[in-house]
Amino acid sequence: MKLIFEKSVAGRRGVRLPRCDVPIERDKLKGLKRKELPDLPEVSELDTVRHFTELSRHNFGVDTGFYPLGSCTMKYNPKIGEEAVRYQGFSRLHPLLPQLRQGGILTQGALQVIYETERFLSEITGMAEFTMQPLAGAHGELTGIMLIAAYHKSRGIKKTKVIIPDSAHGTNPASAAIAGYEVVSVPSDKNGVMDFSEFRKVIDEKVAAVMLTCPNTLGLFNPDIKKIADRTHQAGGLMYYDGANLNAILGKCRPGDVGFDVVHLNLHKTFGTPHGGGGPGAGPVGVKEHLREFLPISLVVKRPDGTYALEYNRPKSIGYVAPFYGNFGVILKCYVYILLLGREGLIRAAENAVLNANYMMEKLKSYYHLPYDRRCMHEFVLSANKQKKHGVKALDIAKRLLDFSFHPPTIYFPLIVEEAMMIEPAETESGETLDKFIEVMIQIAKEAEQEPQTIKDAPHNLDICRLDEVKAAREPNLKYVRVA
Ligand SMILES: *Cc1c(COP(=O)(O)O)cnc(C)c1O
Repeated sequence: MKLIFEKSVAGRRGVRLPRCDVPIERDKLKGLKRKELPDLPEVSELDTVRHFTELSRHNFGVDTGFYPLGSCTMKYNPKIGEEAVRYQGFSRLHPLLPQLRQGGILTQGALQVIYETERFLSEITGMAEFTMQPLAGAHGELTGIMLIAAYHKSRGIKKTKVIIPDSAHGTNPASAAIAGYEVVSVPSDKNGVMDFSEFRKVIDEKVAAVMLTCPNTLGLFNPDIKKIADRTHQAGGLMYYDGANLNAILGKCRPGDVGFDVVHLNLHKTFGTPHGGGGPGAGPVGVKEHLREFLPISLVVKRPDGTYALEYNRPKSIGYVAPFYGNFGVILKCYVYILLLGREGLIRAAENAVLNANYMMEKLKSYYHLPYDRRCMHEFVLSANKQKKHGVKALDIAKRLLDFSFHPPTIYFPLIVEEAMMIEPAETESGETLDKFIEVMIQIAKEAEQEPQTIKDAPHNLDICRLDEVKAAREPNLKYVRVA
């Protein structure tokens, strides 16, 4: 035995078992002024791994099941995007690395990704140029409204109001208010879009912008857009496009072509980044030519010799809205997603998203009240009003869906629909999944009539019980409780 051991180490001198460098208890205070060890919790690596692995198993994501959370576009995000962001040339890139100007070449690939993604988005939306910096949709909205404010200010015109339809996402009025504008809310008409005659009453030369989501949060396209845009421009206002629902119109209709001056996109919704739980996201903002000079610094430019650089010398810019490159990983995933699908693939994504939503809407509308019975785009909004007669609310239906391993739809939004359930199936779901969800929704509608208590006591099949929502809000218990 001895011989063999010596032989095996003969060719590799100098390799010894290293000493353990974790100091044993009594050595920990050596060389320190303190006399006692701090009272920190001691958790072993194994217990830590178990804790986080268990938490991850309580999670529900697009990769575990159907997730028809309206407005959020919870579609499948191709894994190749994750692979790309792990390339060390991207993931380990330090934001302070020099650009080519100072002799650095390491950032060229990243700058090219930002530049080309910006070009793709400009083409998709019909805008002149995008800032890729904003870190979420809401951040894009604020940036966009600030650009609009800078535009009016540069022309010496004082504007005080922003018009927003009552179906809008709450971030729209919030962004306009934070930017210093008074928000004028316009009701929706019987077709579920901004009431044009009500709009005509409030549009005047004090209006800085009209903020529209199209298709809107009811999943409905506004056929009056051109008229609204013309009227707004006549009054010297600008048109803002909330692009959270761009997934429905990719390659079919360009906001820039129908009169919008500023758009934000939610890359995490439309272009291949897993989201939820607070991020990460990206909300690039695109503008028409007349707003270009106000875009935030810095912008990526391509020089005549084909190299890329960040441009800072922009005297009319509104300044910084985010550090460095924005959420670069999300931009990179968007780039990969667009290259993966290509022109035809993007169009098909939109078509299938709209097809899936209409299929579901048609199958469910005789069981649930459909307040706006029109061809929908990528999502539709049902109401649980019929079920409410039996004491079953949208919240109860959402809880019952958990028993069937579905994520519930968005509920109680948009605010203009009572007992709203906003369903967005997305293009990546199979016909089988759609049918399964439809079947379960029909079963729940029947239960509401025959055994409403089953729904009100749901969920039954999970190892969690129904939260007492009032108690949860009034006496929150923020400690993690291990279940099962
Ligand atoms: C999601 C959403 C937003 C806000 O976007 P975030 O990226 O979540 O900040 C704005 N408007 C609409 C219609 C949305 O669905």
